[in-house]
Amino acid sequence: MTPHDHVAAFGATDGELRVGGLPLSRLAARVGSTPFFAYDRGLLDARVDTLRAALPARLELSYAMKANPMPAVVQHLARRVDRIDVASGLEMQAALDTAMRPDRVSFAGPGKTPAEIRSAVAAGVLLEIESTTELSRVVAAGDDLGLTPTIALRVNPDFAVKGSGMRMGGGPQQFGIDAEDVPAVLREIAATGVDVLGFHVFAGSQNLHAAIIAEAQSRTVDLVSALADHLDRPVRYLNLGGGFGIPYTEKDQPLDLDAVAAGLHELVDGPIAARFPEASAVLELGRYLVGECGIYVTRVLDRKVSRGKTYLVVDGGMHHQLAASGNFGQAIRRNYPVVVGNRVDTASGEAVTVVGCLCTPLDLLGDDIALPPAEIDDLIVIFQAGAYGLTASPTAFLGHAPPAEVLV
Ligand SMILES: *Cc1c(COP(=O)(O)O)cnc(C)c1O
Repeated sequence: MTPHDHVAAFGATDGELRVGGLPLSRLAARVGSTPFFAYDRGLLDARVDTLRAALPARLELSYAMKANPMPAVVQHLARRVDRIDVASGLEMQAALDTAMRPDRVSFAGPGKTPAEIRSAVAAGVLLEIESTTELSRVVAAGDDLGLTPTIALRVNPDFAVKGSGMRMGGGPQQFGIDAEDVPAVLREIAATGVDVLGFHVFAGSQNLHAAIIAEAQSRTVDLVSALADHLDRPVRYLNLGGGFGIPYTEKDQPLDLDAVAAGLHELVDGPIAARFPEASAVLELGRYLVGECGIYVTRVLDRKVSRGKTYLVVDGGMHHQLAASGNFGQAIRRNYPVVVGNRVDTASGEAVTVVGCLCTPLDLLGDDIALPPAEIDDLIVIFQAGAYGLTASPTAFLGHAPPAEVLV
């Protein structure tokens, strides 16, 4: 996808990008300072609507809030999705601050502390168990509180998913219980009184290949079918994971959602209906829900030419939007989509390199990209900033002030 495609998704008025219905300069005035992150409520809603229209009605949507834990975003999505998935005690507290019922909040992730587990049991949150140590802590917390914990087993599948930006299942993993160990763990649980609702398989993140995602989901249903034979009750929770990716560079093609949805319709109407009639079937998405609704907005502080190369120095950088800089020097750095937000109707007339204000050559937001001629005070916008942006960046690095975040 090109930067132009992203401008079209947000819309433009009189040469200015529009965000949440506001021209960018007006939004910048409202926020009062740059840099800032802005998340477009309309685009967020449109993404949920598109998913609901494409996916089987029975499939529940869970928001994996580590992708964007801004409270306003979480509150907004809590009214539109069916569940929230959290990965820390603080995320759990934020999810419990929303209208989402506690039993619709799931807590996944390795290394949950005994205090986090106790707190989740007390709240009635669904704990997704990643190891037998966690299981014993859950049992202890339930005994101590006089409550019956509800859990699901996170399973490390016996297959791997190719084409993911990040692989989180298959082979040895810190995530989940190895599939072959699950029968023994279920026997152990049977003696404890803990209520096992079902299973969760999350095999990878940032995948743009519909056929691979569909295959992983189909193999997940097969795997859970085999594991369900070892459970003494019907499966009531079947979390299929997600890992839907978004296009970050011009070369990336958007995920073919209809193709993924076709596979899910087959699974829901076929094996899931037959084998798991009582189960909540859940798709768990972070990046795909919020990634494309967000922009990171910076202001040009300086424009300088060094030995024939033009640099735009902006007031933000990798300390706020690490991924766009290339994650501390990753092997192959590729440009995120960048535009001059107040000149989106001007043809790109020059090659520039956009750098942040940190004193390191790694603080690179756009390397040798084509932009309209930009001047000091122009607003440089980086798209695809709604997921894994601010909270996945080293904000303390060099000690600049944190950026504002707004949902508009
Ligand atoms: C991070 C995570 C997600 C969200 O992944 P995305 O790629 O952002 O969709 C979902 N489930 C689990 C268990 C996770 O750890």
